[in-house]
Amino acid sequence: MRDSPDHVVVLGGGICGLAAAHGLARAGNRVTLLEGSDQLGGLGTFFPWRQAWVERFYHCVMPTDDDLLELLGELGLRDEVRWRRTRMGMVVDGRHHPFNTAGDLLRFTPLGPVDRLRFGVVSLLLRRLGKGKDLDTTRTEDWLRGLYGETVWTTLLAPMFGSKFGASFGDVPALYVWQRLGRESNVSTRGYPTGGYKRIIDTLAAALRAAGVDVRTRAPAVGMSTTTTSARITTAGGEVLDADRVVSTLPLPLLRGIADADLADHLPCPSVSYQGVVNAAFFLKRPLSGHYWTPVLRSGTDFDGVVEMSALTGTTPYEGRHLVYAMHYTDRGSPLYLEDDRTLAHRWSEQLVTLYADSGLTADDVEEVRVFKAPFVEPVYPLGFLASQPAVRVPGAPVFLATTAHVYPDVTSWNSSVRLAKRVVALMGEAPTTPPAAKPLHPSEPTRTA
Ligand SMILES: Cc1cc2nc3c(=O)[nH]c(=O)nc-3n(C[C@H](O)[C@H](O)[C@H](O)COP(=O)(O)OP(=O)(O)OC[C@H]3O[C@@H](n4cnc5c(N)ncnc54)[C@H](O)[C@@H]3O)c2cc1C
Repeated sequence: MRDSPDHVVVLGGGICGLAAAHGLARAGNRVTLLEGSDQLGGLGTFFPWRQAWVERFYHCVMPTDDDLLELLGELGLRDEVRWRRTRMGMVVDGRHHPFNTAGDLLRFTPLGPVDRLRFGVVSLLLRRLGKGKDLDTTRTEDWLRGLYGETVWTTLLAPMFGSKFGASFGDVPALYVWQRLGRESNVSTRGYPTGGYKRIIDTLAAALRAAGVDVRTRAPAVGMSTTTTSARITTAGGEVLDADRVVSTLPLPLLRGIADADLADHLPCPSVSYQGVVNAAFFLKRPLSGHYWTPVLRSGTDFDGVVEMSALTGTTPYEGRHLVYAMHYTDRGSPLYLEDDRTLAHRWSEQLVTLYADSGLTADDVEEVRVFKAPFVEPVYPLGFLASQPAVRVPGAPVFLATTAHVYPDVTSWNSSVRLAKRVVALMGEAPTTPPAAKPLHPSEPTRTA
């Protein structure tokens, strides 16, 4: 039994790292959290806009986000989430369609009458149809094409879901889609915290500091080596931290990049690649369609989705402006991802104005555009990932992984990250002090046996 608390270093100050630090501090550990950038919040971070802070990427809470809502409850913020019914639209071949009710579907001209009916019936039954099936080893394309038929697949589903995963969408396990529908289907109510996501992050960071957690920003970890019972982390500032255990929330390629050769040998090498995102935030003088979420298919735009954030939040947070995001998920090496922000902002503004010209949007209505990109957003899961998913605990090292690749089959979200953080903290509480497998020692220490 130790007489002093374990020192745990958490790598990454996104929601997963913050939630993990929260749980670890509560469990009595001494915790240091290292965040590489100058902001806490990861993909949920924000930028200053006039007197306000605005999320770089659109974010909302779903009523099914139980783990996140529980955390918000602990922080006294649960009642600060404002819920609103939201509506969805769809743009296909440049034409706008509402996409919410049975009546909308009956009038949905991109599909013929038989396919409209089939779409409606299958969508209603989809959750039930997937129950008890081995969807983890079933290709999404095989499952959905079979159920919806060729036309619905090629006209709607392939471009819609493919926009998130790129060309390999059809190969992603159908289990992911099924889970996604579980989180979102038939749920038109969405939530947004008063004060934005910054309020959650600030409150969480204050709670961590009050609990004695050493929360550091601008402190990227640049090196890590381990023995079976300890870890040594080097920061970009040259500081060396010794830890009894480490929780890494970094995307696996980034963790591999800081691990020494010995630790890298023990890290999982899963067959997951990651989609990044290119996303623009538009401040407009007028609303668009009032639809929170609108997939944009074959309409001459580089972006393939539009989120009218102020349909959920109202315009008060943005000094009366309407906030709209447009996005395209893509590889971090793609020409679009590498394009300079100015050119991209200019072109996407023109495309947005053209797309909504019929509703009266003009170039004058676009007051400001900000472009944000993130390289590691959506893991592209291979078939049968439940069997090949990397373990949370790295064998032979006191390192625990809490990454977006570990939330599968859940959808990547704040809720999944909070749930994963709780799972990892619980596992660390149970984990034996003697590690499960032997591995070579830290170079400065004598040889060991397991
Ligand atoms: C466009 C978009 C829309 C989204 N919409 C929603 C939504 O509506 N609802 C929802 O719940 N979720 C949404 N998400 C998903 C959600 O943002 C993520 O699932 C979640 O933020 C992942 O959190 P994380 O802590 O696991 O990872 P991240 O947020 O990526 O955090 C990782 C952290 O590690 C830091 N880091 C990296 N390298 C180092 C290093 N060497 N040393 C120290 N720190 C390092 C990074 O700076 C980052 O802060 C959206 C995401 C995007 C991109």
